Amino acid sequence: MSKTTTLCMTNLRPTLAGAARESVHCGLNQGSSGNLSVRSRGGFLITPSGENMASLTADDMVEMTLGGEVEGNGRPSSEWRFHRDIYATFPEAAAVVHAHSPFAVALACLRRDIPPFHYMVAMAGGTDIRCAAYATFGSQALSDAVLAALRERRACLMANHGLVAWGRGLSAALALANEVEALCGQYLRACQIGEPILLSDAEMREVLEKFKDYGSRD
Ligand code: 13P
Ligand code: ZN
Repeated sequence: MSKTTTLCMTNLRPTLAGAARESVHCGLNQGSSGNLSVRSRGGFLITPSGENMASLTADDMVEMTLGGEVEGNGRPSSEWRFHRDIYATFPEAAAVVHAHSPFAVALACLRRDIPPFHYMVAMAGGTDIRCAAYATFGSQALSDAVLAALRERRACLMANHGLVAWGRGLSAALALANEVEALCGQYLRACQIGEPILLSDAEMREVLEKFKDYGSRD
């Protein structure tokens, strides 16, 4: 049985609430910034809109269908559209993390893609990590821009906003969001000293090949 299947059979509400609190403790989010979701029973469970992420509990989580309807109570994150669109587009996506983390926001405000300055850029699935075009938070236009930037990728920046990462489980999505934040910090620091020397396409292809069986397959 895959880890994803195991997750679906347990109660996802406390797991998602714990991951939301964790996103604050690890420095990815603060206040009501950011949102997280997990795929569940043909739809998904998502954090509520405008609440303090650090004090979310299981009962605060909101259930939605892939059609965008709320099941039961609660007001879902304003960004439910890109969460929904990621689940609809990527069958392997089991969890989505959106964050306003400091270095990702700084780079996203420059509207810069993360180029292959470090081999760990390949963790997001390709030779770079794109920055999605700007659109108002919570809009379908933002979801469309995010999905375009996520083509063949598991993470992207969002212009003047933050980052999005998806994974085969919540821990994988959180780990990738943390990795992207770290890469943004490293890239910005390197840029302060000079122009980073980029890895070639061939060098990155070799890394992408090695990553196919690197680490746990969460
Ligand atoms: P929500 O509180 O509605 O999830 O909004 C936070 C956010 O990050 C919007 O982009
Ligand atoms: Zn946001």
